[in-house]
This record gives sequence, C-alpha cells and structure tokens, in this order.
Amino acid sequence: MNAELPPVTVPQADPGAAYRALKEPIDAAVARVLESGWYILGRECAAFEEAFARWQGAGRAIGVANGTDALALILRGLGIGAGHAVATVSHTAVATVAAIEMVGATPILIDIDPATYTMDPDELEAVLRAPPAGLPPIRAVIPVHLYGQPAAIEAIVALADRHGAAVIEDCAQCHGATAGNRKAGTFGRAAAFSLYPTKNLGALGDGGVIATDDTALAERIAALRQYGWKERYVSDLPGVNARLDEIQAAILTVKLPRLDAANARRQQIAARYDAALAGTGFVPPARRPGTTHVFHQYVIRCADRAAAQAHFRARGIGTNVHYPVPVHAQPAYRGRVPLGPARCRETERAAAEVLSLPMFPELADAQVEQVCAALRALN
Ligand SMILES: *Cc1c(COP(=O)(O)O)cnc(C)c1O
Repeated sequence: MNAELPPVTVPQADPGAAYRALKEPIDAAVARVLESGWYILGRECAAFEEAFARWQGAGRAIGVANGTDALALILRGLGIGAGHAVATVSHTAVATVAAIEMVGATPILIDIDPATYTMDPDELEAVLRAPPAGLPPIRAVIPVHLYGQPAAIEAIVALADRHGAAVIEDCAQCHGATAGNRKAGTFGRAAAFSLYPTKNLGALGDGGVIATDDTALAERIAALRQYGWKERYVSDLPGVNARLDEIQAAILTVKLPRLDAANARRQQIAARYDAALAGTGFVPPARRPGTTHVFHQYVIRCADRAAAQAHFRARGIGTNVHYPVPVHAQPAYRGRVPLGPARCRETERAAAEVLSLPMFPELADAQVEQVCAALRALN
C-alpha cells in the first residue's frame, strides 16, 4: 500500500458499526441466550421466525444456517436435484450457483439486463422454450434481486409458470424491497434470505431465513434443516444440518424492528449520491419502475474502474466490486457450466465496470458528504 495515501475514513461497509449502534440491546440479548442454557433451535429461533414472517408478509419463515443453505433447502424441499436444471444468473454471489450444484442439479446461466443487473426475462423465455441440447429439464428459476432491486419478477413468474418451473427468489440482497406494493420474496414458491453481517438485515455471524406461503414445503424444509427429523432422532427425510443458532436469532430479533428505518437511511444516502452525480459523466443506478430499491449496494459503472477506485481511495474512501468475476468465468466453473444463447455478454461487461460505493445505514452525514464531494470531482 502506498504510504502517502490517507487512512480510509469512509469504509465501503462496516458491520461493526451496526453492532455498536445497538450494543446495549444486542449485549443483553446475547447474555439472555448464554444464561438460558439452550443454544440451538429454541424459543429465540421460533420468535425470530414468527417476527420475520409477519414483517415479510409470509405464511411461514424458517431460520437456517446461511443464505446458501436457504437456497439449497428450498431446492431439496421441492424435490429438485440430480437430473434437473435450474436457471439463474452469472452476475451474482457465487453462492447462488453453488447452492444449485449442492443439490446435484445443473445450473444454466442467463444474462442480465444491463440497466438493472438482473435476469433478462427475454433470454429466460428463449431458454425455457428451447433449452440447450443435452440440458436436463428446467425445474426451477432463481432470479436474484441484486443490489437491493427486484428483478422483473412478475414476468419471470409468468414465464416459469407457463413452463412448469418453480420460482425461488434469491432475496439475499433485497430485504424490504417491493415490486408493485408486494415485498420481493412473496412472488415465487419460496424466498431465500442471507443474514450475513453486511446484508440489509445482518446477524453477527452466519444466518439465513426462508419465507414461503406453502405450509407443506415449510414443514419439509423445517425437517430437512435438521437431519430430516420430524420427531427427535427419527429422520423422515435424508436431511442436512443447516440450523440457525439461538444467539444469532436473538440478535436478529433486536435488529428486525429497525430494518425499515435502516433501508430508508440507505435510500436517503442513495438520493444524495444521485444528486452529486448530476453533471458528471456517471449515471446513477437505474430504478425499475413500480419497485422500491433498498440499496444493499450503490453501484456505478466506470469505463476505467482502476482510476475511479484510486480517485476515491486518494480521498480516504473505500470502494468494492460486486462482482469482479462472473461465476461462469471463475476457475471452479469455467468451461463446464451451461450458458444461455446470449453467452452472458452483458454480465462480462458489467463485471469489468461495476463499482460499489460506501453504503450502510450508520454512515454519518459528514461521511456521505465526503463521498458526494468525491463524486462531484469525478470526470
Ligand atoms: C450473500 C448472498 C448469498 C449467500 O448467502 P450466505 O449467507 O453468504 O450463504 C446468496 N446470494 C446472494 C445474491 C448473496 O448476496
């Protein structure tokens, strides 16, 4: 690192700030669990599940170990695995694709709409109509509501329905986003949320939650997350261990009532960044009409990303890239994961140009202004 660079005074993310903002109630919740003597799947997990289901407007919520397991458990719960294909995107956290392979299914990767960075429904339709030769039947579609913005979910659900595929929403980045006055995550058969520390709703460790209105599916998933048990020590189904622990559940119950306000703060910061970009050559993130964007990330595109990162870093501002390498181009997947006819060209362009600015609700106004000043000086 260049010794002449100033210290980073505006980090891109700061999960520690989220803890410090709620230190007293979180410490009290953790102490309560530690003293209770019950650490796995107890009343804290049940209370969080009930509160999350109510907040989400879902019939059931099931706490699980992380967002990757949430996706995999939904697939297992729907009976999707070896001999099936699942359509998703390559411009996502690798977890989305990893979950599909965890259950033995074959991913097929659809390109993105470059304005919203979410699944292109036209290419999805083409793939559902005429799947690539040799692909197993497509049994599910996993749209990712990336960066906090819903994908074209109504169109995707209509297409999937027509072709007999289940829609599983990857809601790891969109807690609280809406499309047409409904929460993202209420359109498909089930939704998978990550509760990783930097997500809009974050634990202080790993966590995840599944939301669904399908009671039978919820029952299967609740069993699958714990060895397939319906009753203790008797497995009805071949399950896994993907439980949410009591300490994380108690922390999440403290944080959930603050989530809407935290999202509003993210939107306020985004509006200030938008205003600062006016008059520069840089375009604020597009908002899909009829949806609310909850700004898990605030992402701009830069033809010369290295120069832009250096510009911010020289002003004490951290940035990050979500994601620099499309899943299909990563060493573990390269050359063996089927792609749709668009060959993920927009995905590859985006991966080379996207840049995530500092975005978390605890950013102070002075820090936001520091970023805005740097944005105004971009050229
Ligand atoms: C974070 C994330 C996941 C995975 O969640 P984990 O809790 O890290 O397993 C899946 N999909 C997307 C889009 C994510 O951002």
